Amino acid sequence: MPEAMLAESPRLLEDAIFSTEIGAGDPFVHEILRGQFIRIVDIEGNQAADTLFYNAHDYSDRYSAQDTIRRQQNIYLTTGTKLMSTGGNALLTIVADTCGRHDTLGGACATESNMVRYAIEKRYMHACRQTFLKGAMAWSSKTGRHLGKRDMAANINFFMNVPVTPEGKLTFEDGVSDAGKYVELRAEMDTLILISNCPQLNNPCNAYNPTPLRVLIWNASADHNGASGGHDV
Ligand SMILES: [Zn+2]
Repeated sequence: MPEAMLAESPRLLEDAIFSTEIGAGDPFVHEILRGQFIRIVDIEGNQAADTLFYNAHDYSDRYSAQDTIRRQQNIYLTTGTKLMSTGGNALLTIVADTCGRHDTLGGACATESNMVRYAIEKRYMHACRQTFLKGAMAWSSKTGRHLGKRDMAANINFFMNVPVTPEGKLTFEDGVSDAGKYVELRAEMDTLILISNCPQLNNPCNAYNPTPLRVLIWNASADHNGASGGHDV
């Protein structure tokens, strides 16, 4: 597995200011402030955390897979990856990764992709795009700030293994994650995070068994090197 940069986090569970479990198929929406750390834990292993990120002050400035890949010259996300926005800002940096493989090419599952990839009768099944929308609608009604269908753009699939072959083919492989593996990110600017804990029942990558995720948040600590600022030049 090339280019995986495995790194553990120095942050302790007891110092976290926030901790919650996301049930399989459920959304999670939360604003994190510049300098805070967010950890996503694959509790039972081989679960996909489909995730969208937005500039908390301007949702039209959002995660860009293309800019992220171009900036780091690599298609896989791991420790050290800066998640870039469509406006050229570094939203977050991956600061710890015990899994080593996260995808940003495969996209989120939808009822349409379920139908194309699996079978026509899979169309009724719940998919990540619905979970994203459910989270977005809940956030909009709670805050009065609109987040809707047009905001469901490029996403990251944390813990998902989508290698590209030497011929350039995209393949969906069995997960390389395992129980307790995690990825941790530092917010470089105030960021809204929207997670769909993938409800997929048709893909062998999660053994046809979606499982819960845990999200933990830490405040910026005095001993780290500090957020490096929002703008990427
Ligand atoms: Zn999904």
